[in-house]
Amino acid sequence: MTTKEEWIEKDLKYVWHPDTQMKQYEGADFKPILIERGEGVYLYDADGNKYIDAVSSWWVNTLGHSNPKINGVLTSQAQKIEHVLLADFTHIPAIELAEKLVKLAGAPFSKVFYSDDGSTAVEVALKMAYQYWYQKGKPEKKYFVSMTESYHGDTLGSVSVGGIDIYKKIFNPLVFETLKVSAPFCYRCPKNKQQCECNIDCIEDVEQLFSKKHSEIAAIIVEPLVQGAAGMRMYPAQYLTKLRALCDKYDILLIDDEVAMAFGRTGKYFAFEHAGIKPDIFCVAKGITAGYIPLAATVTTDKIYDAFYDDFSTLKTFYHGHSFTGNPVACAVAVENLKLMQQEHVIESLPPKIEKLAKCLEQFKNLEHVGDVRQTGMIGAVEMVRNKSTKEPYDFNERIGHKVFKQALKLGAILRPIGNVIYFMPPLIIKNEEIEQLTKIAYNAIKTVTENYRG
Ligand SMILES: *Cc1c(COP(=O)(O)O)cnc(C)c1O
Repeated sequence: MTTKEEWIEKDLKYVWHPDTQMKQYEGADFKPILIERGEGVYLYDADGNKYIDAVSSWWVNTLGHSNPKINGVLTSQAQKIEHVLLADFTHIPAIELAEKLVKLAGAPFSKVFYSDDGSTAVEVALKMAYQYWYQKGKPEKKYFVSMTESYHGDTLGSVSVGGIDIYKKIFNPLVFETLKVSAPFCYRCPKNKQQCECNIDCIEDVEQLFSKKHSEIAAIIVEPLVQGAAGMRMYPAQYLTKLRALCDKYDILLIDDEVAMAFGRTGKYFAFEHAGIKPDIFCVAKGITAGYIPLAATVTTDKIYDAFYDDFSTLKTFYHGHSFTGNPVACAVAVENLKLMQQEHVIESLPPKIEKLAKCLEQFKNLEHVGDVRQTGMIGAVEMVRNKSTKEPYDFNERIGHKVFKQALKLGAILRPIGNVIYFMPPLIIKNEEIEQLTKIAYNAIKTVTENYRG
């Protein structure tokens, strides 16, 4: 029998891990952890150690690991039809899911375009927006506006609209030119305001740019309420409301990248609901299959769709399609996910959990090296700083977040950080006791690491 150590050895021999400097494992006692199974909010490793999956396995898991009902649908769908092309053919799971998404999102949404992951959902949205203007006779509307510190995926189109140096800087010669506006972020406000005196003044940057350049701008793309990969940077919903108004005023499309936020993370199905607005195009992926298999959708309205709908010879077809577009197993799992969310009143169950999380987050504010504690719905984040009064951050190379992560693993929680930010984005089915347990582990890990760290 292959031992756990041998599996890890083989892993390091053959597998190139995502977002990972592989050399860190050389001669180190910290190696990739071999996970054997999962159940509810817990993951179990090959030694039988149990961890709370505080990051929902990179923000995808919503209804817990190895959910029996979803397992059932997955196997029964695979026995019927595992895959069929979605051009000139269709299947019930793809139809059912599209109908459900459109109905959940409400009018004016009417059409669903499938792809495989968040990055491709964004690629689809960008191409759709550009081709829309092209076919409306405005090919000069070719710029996309995006936010500083934004993250929209790892493919080159989505990197183009991204704003985080570690993902983008090297590829700058390859990506297309975009226009940037400074992102709203309350802890480090671009206008140096306090939250109590906030009048969403940071939207001025957008208005200035739009007023100058609107005739050349196709769309603006945003992460609603929370810039996830930037370190759970949060901003108020009114920003989105004002942004929608500016998009209308200047005839610019609003692309809402809901990849990380949809399906309950913010306390509602979609984050745009908090702002009382509807974007022109939105992208969903991560939570759509409850964390089971890759699937994504770009959802839009008849206004966009109608610009593509014409005689074959007009060449207005949207020539974009992935091999696995609308995979039946993935769609069936997504349909079951949405059914379970409704039947088990998942969204309705969130307010007391959100309140519990808020209570548990309070204690972190007293820690000497915690600069900010923030929350949006079921997402909580704790930003560690070297100096609380000046907000001076720890250096990237100090890997303070990673030190906390390793300490928390020993205590039974997976708190994979983003730089200096430790965050909680657990499966939505987490119980109040588990929220308490998880935040206690995080508190102890942060306290131990920051108090003993002499950098
Ligand atoms: C994760 C993420 C993406 C990319 O999704 P993948 O499935 O990793 O390709 C895009 N946008 C946002 C906001 C994300 O958080």
